[in-house]
Amino acid sequence: MHRRLSAEIIASGTELLLGDTIDTNSAYIAQQLRDLGVDVYFHTTVGDNARRLRSAIEIAAGRADLVIITGGLGPTVDDVTWEAVAAAVGRPLAFSEELLEQIAARFARFGRPMTDNNRRQAYIPEGATPITNPVGTAPAFRAELNRSTIIALPGVPREMHYLMEHEVIPYLRSHIGDAIIRVRVLHTAGLGESHVDSLLGDLEEGSNPTVGLSAQPGRTDVRITARADTAEEADQMIESVARIVEERLSGHVYGRDHDRLGAAIAERLRRRGVRLAVVESVSAGLIAQELLEVAAELVAAHEVVPWTGDAEADDAHSLAGDIALAEDAYVLVSLGAEPDGDVQSTKGRRAALAVVGPGIDIATHFDFGSHPGLFQPWVVNHSLFCLWEALGTQ
Ligand code: AMP
Ligand code: MG
Repeated sequence: MHRRLSAEIIASGTELLLGDTIDTNSAYIAQQLRDLGVDVYFHTTVGDNARRLRSAIEIAAGRADLVIITGGLGPTVDDVTWEAVAAAVGRPLAFSEELLEQIAARFARFGRPMTDNNRRQAYIPEGATPITNPVGTAPAFRAELNRSTIIALPGVPREMHYLMEHEVIPYLRSHIGDAIIRVRVLHTAGLGESHVDSLLGDLEEGSNPTVGLSAQPGRTDVRITARADTAEEADQMIESVARIVEERLSGHVYGRDHDRLGAAIAERLRRRGVRLAVVESVSAGLIAQELLEVAAELVAAHEVVPWTGDAEADDAHSLAGDIALAEDAYVLVSLGAEPDGDVQSTKGRRAALAVVGPGIDIATHFDFGSHPGLFQPWVVNHSLFCLWEALGTQ
């Protein structure tokens, strides 16, 4: 038996609300829950305020099976998670001898004196279950409110990670049942996220397997997650969806799971028995680096040339032609144009590409209309994709 749980994550801390600290905890927890097949429907961020935190908890418990709170379990008065959970579940705070011993033991181990503030940490809502925290003093705990389970975890990322891994995930696994969750990621390039979305929209509405997209500039990952009683069954479910995805995104899926674009290119270069020279501008060496990291022996030469105000296919093509190499090698030229040489300019950006070598002679350009800060990673990924695509042609 396995059932689908819905979850909500509450990050508590005024520093998060103000933007002084980036809420990496929620992202981590969300990823862990996703891999368990738990649906996360809301993230809430709330300051160190017991009344507002209580209200966030009550709202969350009213619509999710599981509420995970991170933060607000420190020894200082601005940490109010205990109070807020106690108020939400309608129970007083109760002293836990077990927690005090745990906290005292930890202080003894580090030879530090314990303060009254730390004693304060031994109080959790009456009826709540303490969760042992061997990596810190902040005690974590679990409480029930109506039909939902509330889990309060420390905000310190290292402690939170530890408790997720050693306590929360095993607990959830045992409650979700013995379903096996398998995940496969298909890496695509050369199609915008919205284009991929329009091709896979119907699959994204399925509930098992689920299909979700995650986009980076010039690349989109398609994540397929299946739940079943056995790994074989889950893999088969994934396989049949993966085949549909590959068919619909034909020519754009360059790898799966830990595959890299550089490795996919290296494989095609090896098959052709030819190396590669790279000339690049806006990507500042990052195109060559992707290949150097996976197959340095295939990189015949690489060079960074200055950015220019404009870049046309002809420029890239003639530059590629000028590079006479002793060895047989393909030359990839990737030029990015920054309008007026101004990286902040919102005017259109353009990348010009050429791939020249045995059996291949391509020159083209692409216009880029997204955020200027994404231009460079987009050029890197898009150039690598175009190279991979060119090497795949006969
Ligand atoms: P707390 O448990 O609220 O006392 O948090 C302890 C420390 O952990 C804070 O000072 C932050 O530096 C860090 N922290 C708390 N919440 C988060 C979060 N959601 N993401 C990343 N770091 C956090
Ligand atoms: Mg805090």
